[in-house]
Amino acid sequence: MLKNDLLETWDRENFFHPSTHLADFARGDAPQRVVTGGSGSYIEDREGNRLLDAFAGLYCVNVGYGRSEIADAIAAQAKELAYYHAYVGHGTEASITLAKMVLDRAPAHMSKVYFGLSGSDANETNIKLVWYYNNILGRPEKKKIISRWRGYHGSGLMTGSLTGLELFHKKFDLPLAQVIHTTAPYYYRRENLAQSEAEFVAQCVADLDALIAREGADTIAAMIGEPVLGTGGIVPPPAGYWEAIQAVLEKHDILLIADEVVTGFGRTGSMMGSTHYGIEPDIITIAKGLTSAYAPLSGSIISGKVWTVLEQGTDENGPIGHGWTYSAHPIGAAAGVANLKLIDEMGLVANAGETGAYFRAAMTEALGDHGNIGEIRGEGMLCALEFVADREARRFFDPSDKVGYRLAAALLEQGVIGRAMPQGDILGFAPPLSLSREEADIIVAATAKAAQSVL
Ligand code: PLP
Repeated sequence: MLKNDLLETWDRENFFHPSTHLADFARGDAPQRVVTGGSGSYIEDREGNRLLDAFAGLYCVNVGYGRSEIADAIAAQAKELAYYHAYVGHGTEASITLAKMVLDRAPAHMSKVYFGLSGSDANETNIKLVWYYNNILGRPEKKKIISRWRGYHGSGLMTGSLTGLELFHKKFDLPLAQVIHTTAPYYYRRENLAQSEAEFVAQCVADLDALIAREGADTIAAMIGEPVLGTGGIVPPPAGYWEAIQAVLEKHDILLIADEVVTGFGRTGSMMGSTHYGIEPDIITIAKGLTSAYAPLSGSIISGKVWTVLEQGTDENGPIGHGWTYSAHPIGAAAGVANLKLIDEMGLVANAGETGAYFRAAMTEALGDHGNIGEIRGEGMLCALEFVADREARRFFDPSDKVGYRLAAALLEQGVIGRAMPQGDILGFAPPLSLSREEADIIVAATAKAAQSVL
């Protein structure tokens, strides 16, 4: 099939692709792929390529592609009732069932779930709820939100501000003033190389304490963080990090939002990243793994502590003025119910832990001694390779070398999709949780070949 046939031309002429170099794309100088099908860990394109998707789309197709159980549930829901809203007490069997299933999988102190459509809108909801909470408690000054450099929380106005990556701020007049950023828990890239992991955690705590002291605890409503930094480089937290951070937040009566858009529903090898790391959040953001992206759906899981205040707020002010037309969309909810059942039936949480560990061990065996690979890290079904110009001297590649992008391109030539993380020198993997050991071996062999050709 010709690359420049009608569909590809229409694509260039009409379609505004997210996160794309628009000018390169228009000139035909950027990647273009029309995806036509998917099955298990593989996708297919119009040119007849069959590619092992070792990033599960955007870390979201957790059960793998082509699962008829979810497709059938979506079709049945669409035929029976494609839409009804969830305003003023309306629900559907699917949305009510899914709320119960989500709460059954969340930490015990969580109380209710609000459904949105994307991780970004769920985080926008969370910030509004935190502001509402403090207004009801009579603390109108307590509104700032702490986020971490390298965090990713979406690309809306507030969520793009929370995101701690320059690419998402540049030329968009972000971050907004209510957002303040603190140190990323990124031990490998610590400033002081002499620090032990415990000393580095103490440094993160001291930095957070100093930020709170500078701004004033009575001006800060919440801190948001991903249990494992995702788009910022797939960085698991150093040991003891979350426990130490939570102690600081508690001391200053600052709420904690755990953004589990990536880690929710199995990716760390536990059902939720919060339970994996012993985090006790006030609000949890979920999306991606909630439906394995078979339909757009996200959620905000609210703790009992916050919920009590929200209820009090509506007694004082009337119905809560928040909601989307598509909140708890029945088709998304039906996909979610079928997806969570499938995750249980296929044993995917355990597989994420076991096959994920096998995958990282195999990657380490193949490439751990490479002089241009500084670190191979991950958790569950998450893995990242960080490239360095010189490992011993810890000389980093200049981001403009785009070594991660060149590696991802070389990997693609071997038929495997990995993701160059935005900072340019990290190659990330987040395969479907259903990955087999044989597929893990294919990814590792392809990565080794790609490394040979690029580094
Ligand atoms: N939060 C995290 C941790 C994410 O990784 C993402 C997306 O990758 C988002 C929020 C935003 O989700 P969405 O792209 O669905 O708006």
